[in-house]
Amino acid sequence: MTGSAGAAENVGSAPGSTSALQVSFEFFPPKSDEGVQRLRSTAAELACRLPHFFSVTYGAGGSTRDRTLGAVLDLIEAGHPAAPHLSCIGASRIETAALLQTWREQGIRRIVALRGDLPSGSVGLGDLRYASDLVGFIREQTGSHFHIEVACYPEVHPQARSARDDLLALKRKVEAGADSAITQYFFNADAYLRFVDEARSAGIRIPIVPGIMPIANFSQLARFSEACGAEIPRWLRLRMQDLGDDAASIRALGLDVVTTLCARLVAGGAPGLHFYTMNQAGLSSEICNRLGIGQA
Ligand code: FAD
Repeated sequence: MTGSAGAAENVGSAPGSTSALQVSFEFFPPKSDEGVQRLRSTAAELACRLPHFFSVTYGAGGSTRDRTLGAVLDLIEAGHPAAPHLSCIGASRIETAALLQTWREQGIRRIVALRGDLPSGSVGLGDLRYASDLVGFIREQTGSHFHIEVACYPEVHPQARSARDDLLALKRKVEAGADSAITQYFFNADAYLRFVDEARSAGIRIPIVPGIMPIANFSQLARFSEACGAEIPRWLRLRMQDLGDDAASIRALGLDVVTTLCARLVAGGAPGLHFYTMNQAGLSSEICNRLGIGQA
């Protein structure tokens, strides 16, 4: 089944314009009442950017299932469009069908569908092996009810056999019914632009929205990047290392680098920007300010 926006390509604003750009912001589900309050304030602060949606991640093996739903419903109740992520690894078809049914009854209309990663030492991969199986299963169970976002990797998923195979994995997700894709974060605009060109050549027509990681803490970013296969350019790594513990200078350099990256992506025709916020509004908001997205 082909997704409803299957022929949309990277539609959005004219290249270089931020006026009609669709922004979205990703959160993780808070663990405490204090975290819930903080997330409410973060969402309220980002609402002036007129987000297309907020999304809430889903822990490996369903470990955050209730908190993910709680956070999404809290956002919806506050008047924000919100979408849960859903990973299939380690889950049975029966569990996933029940979850989809619950989400549908709660009025949720958008899902970010992923394979996920099991923590090391876990056993049992579950009934659905790849994200394309999950997308097909969602369509089989719920027809066109959900808008389905999937993940893709301009710098290639770390477990992919080859860049070509990874592109074909995205194509399989589209053929299974995905409507749009969000990329893993990256700092090299050319990796994204080339990836979109290759996707179009392979017949993939859905919008491909770049995932943007604001730089808050460089050692944490380096750790994440190692795990997810995002490359930190040598020049950026060395400059960040020179700054040591100088948080203000790291923030300033990070803002410059990531804003410049976003501007290049938008100029190159990116249909939107999806910010990995780490539940903090500040950096994403400042990047939006500098790009002229929404109102401060
Ligand atoms: P898939 O598309 O299934 O791909 C996984 C690997 O298998 C790739 O290497 C691919 O090339 C390969 N592959 C796919 N199909 C086949 C096939 N038929 N044969 C052989 N190889 C194949 N993780 C979470 O746990 N929770 C989250 O909320 C979450 N949110 C995310 C949001 C975004 C925008 C992104 C980019 C990632 C997110 N992740 C999340 C991380 C994601 O779960 C991991 O990157 C995971 O390792 C792969 O997920 P996927 O959906 O891309 O998997």
